[in-house]
Amino acid sequence: MLNIVLFGPPGAGKGTQSVHLVESYGLIHLSTGDIFRANIKGNTELGQMAQSYMDKGQLVPDDVTIRMLESEVNKHPEAKGFIFDGFPRTTAQAEALDVFLDARSTPVTCMLALEVEEAELKARLLARAETSGRPDDSNPTVIQKRIDVYNAETAPVAGHYALQGKFTGIDGIGTIEEILDRLKVAIAH
Ligand code: ADP
Repeated sequence: MLNIVLFGPPGAGKGTQSVHLVESYGLIHLSTGDIFRANIKGNTELGQMAQSYMDKGQLVPDDVTIRMLESEVNKHPEAKGFIFDGFPRTTAQAEALDVFLDARSTPVTCMLALEVEEAELKARLLARAETSGRPDDSNPTVIQKRIDVYNAETAPVAGHYALQGKFTGIDGIGTIEEILDRLKVAIAH
C-alpha cells in the first residue's frame, strides 16, 4: 500500500498534483474538501452542516470529518493506496488516522508538504475564484481566515509526521511538471 498525505496550505496545489499522482500510481484520491462540496451540491444533511463552516473559512468539526473520511476509505477495500488531500488538518485528525490505518495494517507511507509563500497563495486563490465557483475563494477575508486557520491548527500536523520520520517538504513553486517530478522523487525514497 502507498498511502500519501498530500499536505500544504490552501492554494498550494494539492488538488492539481493529486490528479497526476492518481494517474501515475493508481491510487484513490480522497479530498475531504471535494467530498464536502459534493454533499453541499447534493443538499445532504452533512453538506448543510459543513457549508456553515466552509463559507466562513473555518474547519468542519473533527468528529464528523473523521467519520466521513473513514467511511470513504472503507468504500475501497481493493485500493492500492490512497492520496489523502486536505486530511488530516488537525492533530486530532492525524491521531485518528493513525489508529484507523494501523488497525488495517496499512499505515501512512509519507507526508509530502507543498511549500508556497502566503502572497502567492492569495494570488492563486483569487485567480482560482474566477473558474472554481467556490465562494470561499472569492472573498479575501475568508481566504485570510483559511490561511490563519492553516497556520494555527493545520501546520502542526507536519510535526506529527516529522516525529515518525515521514515528513518531506516539497518546493511548491514551478510548473506543474516540475513539482510533480519533485513529488515522484520523494515517493521513490
Ligand atoms: P483548500 O485546501 O483550498 O482550503 P479544501 O477543498 O481542501 O480547500 O477545503 C475547503 C474547506 O473544506 C476548508 O476550508 C474546510 O472548511 C473544509 N475542510 C476540508 N477538509 C477538512 C478537514 N480535514 N477538516 C475540517 N474541515 C475541512
